[in-house]
Amino acid sequence: MHEKLKNIRRQKISHISFNIGLYCNQMCAHCHLNSGPERTEAMDWPLMAKMAEFIKISQPDSFEITGGAPELNPYISEFIRKIRPLVKKISMRTNLTALELNKKSENNSGNKNRFIKFLYENSISLVASLPCYEEEEVRIQRGEGVFEKSIEVLKELNDIGYGKSAIPALDLVFNPIFPTLPPQQSMLELKFKEILNNNFGIEFNNLIAMTNVPVGRLAENLKIKNSYDGYINLLRKNFNEENLAKLMCISQVTIDWKGRFYDCDFNLAIDMPKNGLSNIDLILGLTNSGKNSGVNQSDNNILNNLLIGKRIFTGGHCLACTAGSGSSCHGALQE
Ligand code: SF4
Ligand code: SF4
Repeated sequence: MHEKLKNIRRQKISHISFNIGLYCNQMCAHCHLNSGPERTEAMDWPLMAKMAEFIKISQPDSFEITGGAPELNPYISEFIRKIRPLVKKISMRTNLTALELNKKSENNSGNKNRFIKFLYENSISLVASLPCYEEEEVRIQRGEGVFEKSIEVLKELNDIGYGKSAIPALDLVFNPIFPTLPPQQSMLELKFKEILNNNFGIEFNNLIAMTNVPVGRLAENLKIKNSYDGYINLLRKNFNEENLAKLMCISQVTIDWKGRFYDCDFNLAIDMPKNGLSNIDLILGLTNSGKNSGVNQSDNNILNNLLIGKRIFTGGHCLACTAGSGSSCHGALQE
């Protein structure tokens, strides 16, 4: 790890990312969480209800639901209904093909995808994985038939209104297929927009270019191909100090399907620190004891008091966030 990554400290938390489980219909080669159809980790309803209570007291500016494939959790619609009035900006990460699977659920009739309509009506922005505008690259990284299904779902999202205005947004996520850094995000966005529009008539809002973080299945695959050390060296060689102040872990926290807090989804993937930094039970317990003793716990003081100024757990994998233009779940850190 780079020396300068050893003392990164958290500031005020404005964004909460909520990973509701590792079940996924895909098994992508680059998945940092080792998600797939065999994974059984999933958030249950009692914890989702607690999570809604937690959102009410922590009041983040934005809240993101991720997985696995979050749209395949049986309680997803109920959860969205519950939290919709509690936070202004809500987004959900999707692999697109899981939205297509949802279409076949009993709630849908014919070709109409009522779940997509539900998301749009509730102003849920979507952050959708599409690592390339070409079939072959998507097939190699995400599996046979994924490109075709993704295009079909993107068209359906456009038909319903996604990608046509700023909110709810439809953003696409790019990550490199080979052990390289992503190209410049703004240039790549122009290329994606031109090709997807010319070839399929698809529109979207923003392109998020992410650097692959060498943990989980990606790390395993790099090791099998003897590319792991070379990739780490590439990240180290491109260390850019300007990214340090913009790292996403400085202003956000990730919560997993058991209610445990992590610095980010990558630390969650490697369980760093073991069993998390804290959990929502602790925060809810502190809030209730504050109420009982007459202390007014407005704002997100308890969460921030617990975590502001605390050292972020960093490791060699963090070099992916600091290389070149920088990287985060929300895109490049520099333009
Ligand atoms: S990268 Fe996303 S879509 Fe692919 S296996 Fe992992 S969670 Fe599923
Ligand atoms: S992987 Fe990135 S976001 Fe996570 S702790 Fe390291 S630097 Fe921060």
